[in-house]
Amino acid sequence: MNILVINSGSSSIKYQLIDMTTEKALCSGLVERIGEGMGALTHKINPGTDTEKKFSFEQDFPTHVEGMERVVELITDAEKGVIASTRDIHAVGHRVLLGGEEIKEPVRVNDWVKGVIRDYIPLGPLHNAANLAGIEVAMKLFPHAPSVAVFDTEFHQTMPEKAYLYPLPYELYKELRLRRYGFHGTSHAYVTRKAAEFLGKPASEVNLITCHLGNGCSMAAVQNGRCVDTTMGITPLEGLMMGTRCGDIDPALVPFLMEKKGWGPAEMDTVMNKKSGLKGICGMNDMRDVHAAREKGDAKAQLAFDMFVYRIRKYVGAFAVVLGRIDAVVFTAGIGENDDFVRSEVCRDMPLLGLEIDAQANAKRSGEIRAISTSASRIPVLIVPTNEELAIAQATQSVLK
Ligand code: ADP
Repeated sequence: MNILVINSGSSSIKYQLIDMTTEKALCSGLVERIGEGMGALTHKINPGTDTEKKFSFEQDFPTHVEGMERVVELITDAEKGVIASTRDIHAVGHRVLLGGEEIKEPVRVNDWVKGVIRDYIPLGPLHNAANLAGIEVAMKLFPHAPSVAVFDTEFHQTMPEKAYLYPLPYELYKELRLRRYGFHGTSHAYVTRKAAEFLGKPASEVNLITCHLGNGCSMAAVQNGRCVDTTMGITPLEGLMMGTRCGDIDPALVPFLMEKKGWGPAEMDTVMNKKSGLKGICGMNDMRDVHAAREKGDAKAQLAFDMFVYRIRKYVGAFAVVLGRIDAVVFTAGIGENDDFVRSEVCRDMPLLGLEIDAQANAKRSGEIRAISTSASRIPVLIVPTNEELAIAQATQSVLK
């Protein structure tokens, strides 16, 4: 069975065609700058292997339809393709941002599901509208292949009321569905399953603190395999400091700044989502650039790094108390998997939890799941590479079984 996984953004489409017998990607790619004049498409066959081949194109993609049509041409092309026709795509799995309280598991797309995605557009304006556009395009281009929606919020639907409610007037929750939903759920769920396997325990018995640290950063407190708290909220802005997002701030700052600076809601939103975080403090949002500057003595870069690490440590402490017992602390995503310095600084001097990093294991580069703590560490610290596309494909397959 071949499953096409689509992550449709406001001006981009990420795709991966996965052969479910091997669970390997046949091809993957990214269409960028849709509706923004000259767009770009990068297409790779056998990505991440010795036989990887990469193709890049520039062309105008007025809408997601033209972008996806070009992808179809490529994946069925005699030279650049990997399948003979769209008939060889047996199902399509879609990443969808927000499914609210209505959707608690992956679902086959029908009119009701589309309605729920549409209903949540006001709370996830960029993503949910784009996700729906991706679904409509796929249903048009692959009418024979069932579409399944996999929601970023699903894994967090097990949070108890005391964790997901905001202490605002309760009617607002009832009227506007204002509550914490949490995101990166597919990743937190995937690394939870993998960590449980690695620890030799049933997923339903593991307690974990999972740290997904990429461009967007979030953590989850996982009790008996189920999420009981997470750092992101009604949008992916709450919680940790991120590449360009501020994370937790005093909400009173919002009206104060809007008044003081004369900013409207859109400008305020842009400042918090695109101009804050690491970038807001030191002008750089890629952690590799922050390290390079820090090592040359850039004090702002050092400060940004220290703030980033400090906030992760604060939530490790909070989630440790929430969980009581912890089987492992898990690092994943771009920074979590690749940045040994962030990992060692997060775990440094934590006598209450007794985390102890093995410097050699931490420095080793590998794409494998592994422990980076010493045998004396009271709690194992793991790196678990995430694979959201595979997780979406697996969920799609199980829905259709
Ligand atoms: P996304 O949230 O977009 O999926 P990723 O999980 O791919 O992002 O993470 C991207 C981020 O990971 C980059 O912005 C960069 O800061 C960080 N990153 C990637 N590789 C490294 C590395 N070798 N060292 C430090 N940080 C890295």
